[in-house]
Amino acid sequence: MTKGSLTVRILIGMALGAVVGLILNGIGIEGLIEDYLVEGLFHVLGQVFLAFLQLLVVPLVLVSLVCGTAALGDLAKLGRIGVKTVGFYLFTTAAAITLALVAALVVRPGVGFDLEMDATFEAAVAPPLSEVIIGIFPTNPFQSMAEGNMLQVIVFAVLFGIAVILAGRPGERVLAVFQDLNEIIMKLVGLVMQVAPFGVFALVARTFSMLGFEAFENLLWYFFLVLAVLIVHGSVVYSLLLRVFTGLNPITFLRNIRTAQAFAFSTASSNATIPITLNVVENKMGVHKSIGSFTVPLGATINMDGTAIMQGVATVFIAQAYGIDLGVTQLLMVILTATLASIGTAGVPGVGLIMLAMVLNQVGLPVEAIGMILGVDRLLDMVRTAVNITGDATVSCIVGKGEGQLDEEVFNTRE
Ligand code: ASP
Repeated sequence: MTKGSLTVRILIGMALGAVVGLILNGIGIEGLIEDYLVEGLFHVLGQVFLAFLQLLVVPLVLVSLVCGTAALGDLAKLGRIGVKTVGFYLFTTAAAITLALVAALVVRPGVGFDLEMDATFEAAVAPPLSEVIIGIFPTNPFQSMAEGNMLQVIVFAVLFGIAVILAGRPGERVLAVFQDLNEIIMKLVGLVMQVAPFGVFALVARTFSMLGFEAFENLLWYFFLVLAVLIVHGSVVYSLLLRVFTGLNPITFLRNIRTAQAFAFSTASSNATIPITLNVVENKMGVHKSIGSFTVPLGATINMDGTAIMQGVATVFIAQAYGIDLGVTQLLMVILTATLASIGTAGVPGVGLIMLAMVLNQVGLPVEAIGMILGVDRLLDMVRTAVNITGDATVSCIVGKGEGQLDEEVFNTRE
């Protein structure tokens, strides 16, 4: 089976899932359909597929990042790549949220919104910044891995990789083992991708069969505005950035990223998509392991442009619905907090909405208003996760090209 036909099969699985889900939604899911199909077959298939993906994340990130760091072999280079990557991630997120704010201020989706609907949402308390910083550093790497705390796993893997470089002969021996492990885990990723058309189908079919369309009636403007900004950012803004910073062909980029986008859309989790994003960035975009193994997991954890877009539109929408005017200072505050919130947002389904509480708090808007937009969030979550990982891949290409670590022949090879 060629790579090309697999991508097509995954996309077909996704589209079929949407169609079957919508049909079931129309018929109404109850009785046998609910018990055996939606909560039976689709649920089991989807969750097993998700488990396969998730089980790969921690071992893959650890092993490939140790190999990647060691392959760099130069600590100064490592520092430069780190600063560049984080810088680009912050920049793309700030650009995303600015675009979202401008769009929402122009379109004004919340003006005249009927506040009668019940808005209930329990706000989560954001931890203080000091705790967030301390929390990046692991005290027990095994615990970090067991808990799937990605930032801690990343810190440990980079430190370990540096020590591998410094250790001389023992380092070389350990590296050889890690390189073999990396090959094996990548084979596992390939296996999971073979069953992906079915997994993706099941996840999307179940989600679509359960979408509540009543919520959309009142929120059409909000929904379509978030969607439009996500699409513009995901296609136009990234394409421009790619063109300007690398000279690479954006169309080829968008074609290459499709598989990872399909995974992100179906799972609504950047985190679970890491194995696929990494695979695509390294094997289809030609980004060297030493860059991709660092930029992809880091991006899946701290770079959430799609999430920031939702948060920007949602904040303005809520302010307009409540008839509150946001001044320039407050808008700048939104840019700052949404950028920070997107760093703190774990790449799992629905967290972006919880972190929105932090943004609303910051500008004095009622947090329970999040309840108003809850009904349409699942679908937006799927789309914004696809945008999130597209951002990770864009920055990976930019940093890779800048470091002379992107093989253009691989990038341009048609499947
Ligand atoms: N589901 C998103 C992600 O995994 C995060 C969010 O916006 O809720 O990237």
